[in-house]
Amino acid sequence: MTRTANRRVLISGASIAGPALAYWLSRYGFEVTVVEKASAIRGGGYAIDIRGTALGVVDRMGLLPRLREKHVGTQKLTFVNPDGTPVTAVSPEAIAGGDPGADIEVRRGDLADALYDVCRDRVDFRFGDSIATLEDRGDRVDVSFDGGDSRTFDLVIGADGLHSNTRGLAFGPEEPYLSYLGHVVAVFTVPNDFDLAHEGLIWNVPGKVAALYAHEPDDSVHGFLAFRQKDMPFAAHPTPEAQRELVAANYPETAWHIPYLIDAMRTADDLFFDAVCQTRMPTWSRGRVALVGDAAFATSFLSGQGSSVSLVGAYVLAGELARNADHTAAFASYERTARPFIEENQATAGEGGTALIPGTQAMLDARNHALNDPTTLAGERSSIYTSLTLPDYTV
Ligand SMILES: Cc1cc2nc3c(=O)[nH]c(=O)nc-3n(C[C@H](O)[C@H](O)[C@H](O)COP(=O)(O)OP(=O)(O)OC[C@H]3O[C@@H](n4cnc5c(N)ncnc54)[C@H](O)[C@@H]3O)c2cc1C
Repeated sequence: MTRTANRRVLISGASIAGPALAYWLSRYGFEVTVVEKASAIRGGGYAIDIRGTALGVVDRMGLLPRLREKHVGTQKLTFVNPDGTPVTAVSPEAIAGGDPGADIEVRRGDLADALYDVCRDRVDFRFGDSIATLEDRGDRVDVSFDGGDSRTFDLVIGADGLHSNTRGLAFGPEEPYLSYLGHVVAVFTVPNDFDLAHEGLIWNVPGKVAALYAHEPDDSVHGFLAFRQKDMPFAAHPTPEAQRELVAANYPETAWHIPYLIDAMRTADDLFFDAVCQTRMPTWSRGRVALVGDAAFATSFLSGQGSSVSLVGAYVLAGELARNADHTAAFASYERTARPFIEENQATAGEGGTALIPGTQAMLDARNHALNDPTTLAGERSSIYTSLTLPDYTV
């Protein structure tokens, strides 16, 4: 099908939301360009979950078998005391809820690869580039790229993550839109020196977590550190070196694998460091520019639903653009349909925080006690993961 209205769409970002949106828009006959600042789809990475309503999206894309093959299949999470002695081991679903028979856990890069593969033939991907300027002219958007050329599009969609470039260009600085959850996170790979497979080890003291997450036995392991920090860290710790020092200074403990993790963090060449934030915006569009995924509605790792809501948001946005020739009506309908589901999922970060990073000794004791009756930890989350029924956009 060839479209006439708003045919030329530029998407910024090729991780989860960007390629998912590109797939659906190209399937509906739009002419789609995706610009990604990295030189290729970034593979590997920490494991993410696809649950509930989002399973319907990947199913409709024909990706379920491929993703099931890549399923990480974490079997247990072992919580340990400050001195490293075990508290207890539970299933991941005991903490996060969900349906162990249906949910998929894959490395973020494996999902990105799969989404890219199903649309790469129909979509123009421009790697190693970024939007430099965009001018919404009312009837079109004029875009210039860092790479030097300029082009005109009917619509521009930002799927470029928590610190979205597109959001910055269309809505202004990020401060009003990022809700800081009072923690800093560092993730990096470490060698699998502990013979771990399909499991996580989680160490807590009040306000801090350190964890090791292992996938396949011969695969590297993810070190994960998150700790309470009153203010956003970037002003006081602007450089990678200062950020490594901040993380190290927060883990003076010599128990368990803490010194090993801090040494590995200091030398990791893939350190991911960020403030734990949610994106909260009064509206996800302005004129001919809209946002999707973490750029519009990041949930934070504390909810574990970021990838799922990104997939659902992309599916709904594409469907509404296909159904409505008028982009203003499409963007409004996208929000009406997806926002209640996404905000409910964002709200699960509170429970996630209590379970993963109890803030006080009393909260840590209560969490450890609740590990013996995990139904109290996952709460009502499973019904929230499925609370949206996917609309059918047969156009
Ligand atoms: C430590 C951690 C653990 C997490 N755990 C989970 C979990 O267990 N379960 C879960 O579902 N989710 C989890 N998430 C969240 C999940 O990773 C995100 O919600 C999801 O990746 C969002 O996808 P996205 O496509 O919107 O953005 P991103 O994945 O952030 O991708 C943004 C893309 O835009 C590109 N980009 C950035 N700037 C530009 C630019 N200027 N021009 C062009 N391209 C640009 C980036 O290179 C990237 O490819 C976790 C996140 C973190 C940080």
